[in-house]
Amino acid sequence: MAEKKNNYTVDPGGRFTCKKCGVLLVKGSATFSYLDNAFPVELPVCPGCGFIYVPEDLARGKVLDVERELEDK
Ligand SMILES: [Zn+2]
Repeated sequence: MAEKKNNYTVDPGGRFTCKKCGVLLVKGSATFSYLDNAFPVELPVCPGCGFIYVPEDLARGKVLDVERELEDK
């Protein structure tokens, strides 16, 4: 597994804080691109630097795989 940069911290309450800005990430709309597809998602974003937290499942394409499996049935 590749080493990833930790641009955020997660507090016990499950809230994300941007390490760079020291502010809480807020839910915002983003567009997630996968191959030739782009779809809107709601992800925690930093209001300061624009950092977007991407869940590992989403980054790895796991979510898409699940959706595809469901569609096949
Ligand atoms: Zn930030």
